[in-house]
Amino acid sequence: MQLDQVAFAWSTNGRFATFPAFTRNLQLEFSVKKSSLLFLLLLIAFGAGAFYYFRDTTAPTVTLSPDSGAIAPVRPLELRLEDTGTGIRDLTVTLLQQGGATPLMSKSFPAGTTTIREDLSLAAANLSEGPFDIVITVGDHAVYHFGKGNRAEQSFSFSFDRTPPLATVISTGHNFVQGGSALVTFRLAEEVSKAGIVVADRFIPAHRQSSGFYACLVPFPNDLPEKDFVPRIQAVDLAGNEAMTGIFYRAKEQTFRQRRINIDDRFLQAKTPEFKALVPEAGTPVDIFLAVNRDLRQSNREKLVGFAGQTSATPLWEGAFLRQPQSATLALFGDRRSYYYNDQKIDSQIHLGIDLASVVQAPVHAANTGRVVFAGYLGIYGQCVIIDHGLGLQTLYGHLSKIDVAEAENVSKNQIIGNTGLTGMAGGDHLHFGIVVAGVPVNPIEWWDAQWLKNNVDSRLSAP
Ligand SMILES: [Zn+2]
Repeated sequence: MQLDQVAFAWSTNGRFATFPAFTRNLQLEFSVKKSSLLFLLLLIAFGAGAFYYFRDTTAPTVTLSPDSGAIAPVRPLELRLEDTGTGIRDLTVTLLQQGGATPLMSKSFPAGTTTIREDLSLAAANLSEGPFDIVITVGDHAVYHFGKGNRAEQSFSFSFDRTPPLATVISTGHNFVQGGSALVTFRLAEEVSKAGIVVADRFIPAHRQSSGFYACLVPFPNDLPEKDFVPRIQAVDLAGNEAMTGIFYRAKEQTFRQRRINIDDRFLQAKTPEFKALVPEAGTPVDIFLAVNRDLRQSNREKLVGFAGQTSATPLWEGAFLRQPQSATLALFGDRRSYYYNDQKIDSQIHLGIDLASVVQAPVHAANTGRVVFAGYLGIYGQCVIIDHGLGLQTLYGHLSKIDVAEAENVSKNQIIGNTGLTGMAGGDHLHFGIVVAGVPVNPIEWWDAQWLKNNVDSRLSAP
């Protein structure tokens, strides 16, 4: 094709030549054209070669997470490799410690492998406690560097830590009564990312005090059988080692009162309008009552755990908690209530506070010094104030007719925070007084008792 065109161009240029001259010229022309063609082909080949050679000159990127600090054998490191050019070809991971090198991983990958994610587990590695390095070498499928491809080598420095953060319990004589609480104090020999006490399926965070020890107020939930109340200290260090430490304690089961509550139409007529909007799916007045008494009660209690999360890490209370002055006790903590409508049992619930009544719309006093974490409407508790006293300890004031404090406000012991009323699930004007530890309602009677408070809480904080 090219040659025909060359010949044609020659014969149509208007010049005349004898046949031998024509042949010579043709051959000459031909050889000139042939060599430039070869040159062109070579140039193309060279260009293609150069493109192939230079098309990937970038080494794969290496990301290790975490990339420094203390590492426990239980926590694998996450390695990520990326090569958007020719793809990752090989990977080696080597551990260096005290002059020795131990291979941890060696892998090859097919061309076009752009991303790799590997978990590097040190569980089987023969490392000693202390500093070590991880060296990661990775190559790609490029022909750059005379066929060797692009290589990246990166080194990361860590400290190997396989010692679990066992706690040293400081406090002694832990006496728990079902529905009550007590303070446990302990020390940890190293910095931790998590420390607290596990009770059944609950984790109760401990709070580190300025002198270095940890304080944890532990509730013995009123509905937890004594055999299931086994508090244990749980701590996780910065490397990821976890330790569980047992504590010595005595736990006493309680017998709670049985109480019958009659729900009549007068009560339902009075309360249904307030609750209708809260449980729009419920139909009859009894349905509305049951939806509030069961489901809303449950969701309100779950909210208490959220308020506990806003607690002060240091105690804010000062001495025993105040009982609402000149008030009569209407209901006790832990009362097992059976609800009857037309002599039919329709529900059963546990009362998790103490009901106190004096005069209608009596002023309500803060039981102790603290900071308001909630002031507003809270379902069964109606108009409600929750005051935080630190270390997960909070007091709850329910069924108020008026609230005089705002969220985030600091209150002093005995300060008037509102007035009693009958908002929420209340059949008459009274104060529902609750004490909550880590979101779990506990018996206020303990906290009203100065001697109990001194023996089980305050003495452990002042002289750990
Ligand atoms: Zn109550």
